Amino acid sequence: EAITVGELANRMAERVADVVKFLMRNGIMATTNQSIDADTAQLVVEEFGHRVVRVSDADVEQVIDTVVDKAEDLSPRPPIVTIMGHVDHGKTSLLDAIRKANVVSAEAGGITQHIGAYQVTTDSGAVLTFLDTPGHAAFTSMRARGAQVTDIVVLVVAADDAVKPQTVEAISHARAANVPMIVAINKIDKYEANPQKVRTDLLQYEVVVEEMGGDVQTVELSAKTGQGIDTLLEAIALQAEILELQANPNRAAHGAVIEAKLDVGRGPVATVLVQNGTLRQGDIFVVGQTWGKVRALVNDQGERVTEAAPSVPVEVLGLNGTPSAGDVLNVVETEQQAREIADYRAQVAKDKRTAAGTATLEQLMARAKADKDIAELSVVVKADVQGSVEAIVQVLEKIGNEEVRVRVLHSGVGAITESDITLAEASGVPVIGFNVRANAAARNVAQQKGVEIRYYSIIYDLVDDITAAASGLLKAEV
Ligand code: GDP
Repeated sequence: EAITVGELANRMAERVADVVKFLMRNGIMATTNQSIDADTAQLVVEEFGHRVVRVSDADVEQVIDTVVDKAEDLSPRPPIVTIMGHVDHGKTSLLDAIRKANVVSAEAGGITQHIGAYQVTTDSGAVLTFLDTPGHAAFTSMRARGAQVTDIVVLVVAADDAVKPQTVEAISHARAANVPMIVAINKIDKYEANPQKVRTDLLQYEVVVEEMGGDVQTVELSAKTGQGIDTLLEAIALQAEILELQANPNRAAHGAVIEAKLDVGRGPVATVLVQNGTLRQGDIFVVGQTWGKVRALVNDQGERVTEAAPSVPVEVLGLNGTPSAGDVLNVVETEQQAREIADYRAQVAKDKRTAAGTATLEQLMARAKADKDIAELSVVVKADVQGSVEAIVQVLEKIGNEEVRVRVLHSGVGAITESDITLAEASGVPVIGFNVRANAAARNVAQQKGVEIRYYSIIYDLVDDITAAASGLLKAEV
């Protein structure tokens, strides 16, 4: 495994020249496009005061800009919450109800602006940040870009409808991202509401709620009447306390873009969720392939502010272009540095477009192996009928021994959809279709992102392929 000097500098948001200089001082002559090995890369990363972070299990060399914070510099930060669930179960209604329940801003006479995220204060004084775009597509595509911007998932399940396919999908997405869930049992104002069915249904998907001896909190509520909303907010605050979320407000900021647009009056505007540090007016930054200097910051009340602390969403003005959702913003020292990194990224993106490569099953296995003591191949499985899904999951999970294991990240009935592809991409895994095809949108995304789709109609072929990949891997190891 290796990384080029240019890419390493880019990921740390440092100047290539500075990295080259450091390497030279250590007797390594390497130019921008030359690769250095993982150990050397780690040295560089540490020298520049960053931390090596494995963005995904499969990608050892991904480095993101995270200066190591000392324990004494850290203070608690609000949790970032995403609402997921089946269509029509009340995600949007719940987001609106929570926003309205936020008396503090209403009293201040603030007019809420939809900037992609908002903050509320609970009765007990905890501050919570909500992402305003419900649904798992946004969540997962951001994660695929390396921006994990969710600490807690609220899974909305309508009490009159119980667990549905997208509920299951949401569970898979949350689990793949390793984010704890709170179940909001919505629509309890309805006559047909059956909250108990929701709890028992969830058991099938290994979501064990507190009432059944597990550790997943549930809250019964109605987004329509407002009943239970306060309880939900306190449940989130409690979960956040358990997570001990912390950040260092006294350092250069980095954050993730959750929305970006070209505004007629204001130019490019990006809503950034600050993940660490404090973003201030006048800061110079690079974000994706664009850069700029913070001309103004606007909060979720539409007010101008001079700074944004960790977990605070703000609109950032002063960009030279429009970044994409999921792009990471880093504050840097100089304009030259910002420009250089942005240019480099633009170049890399261009190169990538010309030589889009796809990872094969075998490559994925090899990568998975390099990363762990036990090789684990995760897959997403879609099949035509529930019986096939169950059979496939069973046989796949039986393949393997102490050294190799196959894990089904998500399984479901029906065509392969865009959502399956984004989940597979975020986790760096292939999608298996059994007697089903990918729909057109899914095919396009898969091609763009280099996600492998394998089709089967005979279960033994599928088993053979996976077994062969697994044993090939074991041989390679010897
Ligand atoms: P989403 O697709 O998950 O965002 O669902 P919406 O928020 O759009 O809600 C779908 C429908 O359910 C709408 O007609 C809402 O008015 C209705 N709804 C949402 N929450 C409740 C609730 O607590 N009680 C009742 N009775 N209806 C609700």
